[in-house]
Amino acid sequence: METVTQYQHRFTDGKPCLLQPGKVVCVGRNYADHIAELSNAVPKEPLLFIKANNSLTSFHDVIHIPETGECHNELELAFLLGKPLRNADVSQVYDAIAGVGLALDLTLRDKQSELKANGHPWERAKAFDGSCPVSEFMPVSADTLNTAFQFQLEVNGHCRQQGDSSNMLWQWPELLAHVSQTFTLFPGDIVLTGTPKGVGPLVSGDQIKASLHNMLTCEATVKQGSTL
Ligand code: ZN
Repeated sequence: METVTQYQHRFTDGKPCLLQPGKVVCVGRNYADHIAELSNAVPKEPLLFIKANNSLTSFHDVIHIPETGECHNELELAFLLGKPLRNADVSQVYDAIAGVGLALDLTLRDKQSELKANGHPWERAKAFDGSCPVSEFMPVSADTLNTAFQFQLEVNGHCRQQGDSSNMLWQWPELLAHVSQTFTLFPGDIVLTGTPKGVGPLVSGDQIKASLHNMLTCEATVKQGSTL
């Protein structure tokens, strides 16, 4: 596995990607079915948090999860920025996207519950080293971006999560525009768009397979313990 300092974004067409890996802006609670499964309240505005670039690793071969604590899968549609986006409106978002892919927002659920109960920030549960395995990115055109994206996660051959971008509470263009009002997005940054239902613990030896539209597939074995 690559260490955090070796991680590079990659495109599915094999063309080199020179974008420097940056921050990962994430949204919590963007699918009604996932809000229901964790008995959370529907937020009035997107609930945003950030994973720094220490969280990035490639979704390939082996995914390392922490030694202790229940680590949950959250498979999410991910957008890679190719141009800066600041105080943008929705019409400016499409042109700034360099690629679309999948990411796992790995979450130490017990730790997150403890932090939430105490009103503390979530980084210890969500932004640890290697907490964001990402696929290669499909280069996109305006046409590709105007379709709904279907994606799914299989664990040991069983479907655990199925998502459809049309079920997002905040549609992704609206979400990226909203994010850019607070956090300037730079080329190489990624925005994760929330998880559908089906979050659950991963354990050592799990074989996981994520796919997007049957056009992009990534597979990895889960291993507990870090080699970062
Ligand atoms: Zn998430």
